[in-house]
Amino acid sequence: MRLILLGPPGAGKGTQAKMLKEKFHIPQISTGDILRQSVKDNNELGIKASSFMDVGELVPDDVVIGLIKERIKQVDCETGFILDGFPRTIVQAEKLSETLNEMGLLIDRVVDLEVTAEEVISRLAGRSTCPDCGGMFHEESRPPKVSGICDGCGGVLAQRQDDNSETILKRLDVYQESTAPLKQFYKKQGNLKAVTARGSVEEIFSRVLEMVK
Ligand code: ADP
Ligand code: ZN
Repeated sequence: MRLILLGPPGAGKGTQAKMLKEKFHIPQISTGDILRQSVKDNNELGIKASSFMDVGELVPDDVVIGLIKERIKQVDCETGFILDGFPRTIVQAEKLSETLNEMGLLIDRVVDLEVTAEEVISRLAGRSTCPDCGGMFHEESRPPKVSGICDGCGGVLAQRQDDNSETILKRLDVYQESTAPLKQFYKKQGNLKAVTARGSVEEIFSRVLEMVK
């Protein structure tokens, strides 16, 4: 099963992708996570990417396309994968189709997580993540048992560098401008399914499952 999760920042793509990964035993491929890891490692990719990420802009297409091409050719992707945060532009989507074509593969389903801009702003502003295991928490809707500490692994929670109000607004603009047009792109291909991304994580997950069946 090869899936794409679409939706604005804060729609819950990462959370749903992790749940899908557990359920179907296929890898979650998050360009955001890969890029953040590179920033942490302070390698060449990270140094290049951070100047874009810090201000909420997209990392150049050729960089992320190169990353994904390499990643989906690895053996653990043979039975499928969940793309989370990629593609984000029409060019990325076209290159992805091209690459899959060459491999004789197709995307089975594109699930669009729908949420309003107001909701996104409040979600992102209160969000914290565990740098060690990727666990995600929220001040109001999903507080950790001990403030500032990851329930899963005991790691020290951190706010993402780009989860500040100025950068959040920029990311929303970029989403509207560059990523939202992907809905039309995949609608034309006939595999787009929209899901309301409101309610509890479990509620949203059951809606997502309905769509990927
Ligand atoms: P969110 O969806 O919450 O904004 P991500 O973790 O998916 O978070 O992405 C964080 C940042 O990483 C983006 O703002 C962008 O700078 C960069 N990034 C991630 N995926 C891509 C992509 N496919 N193309 C370009 N830039 C990307
Ligand atoms: Zn953790």
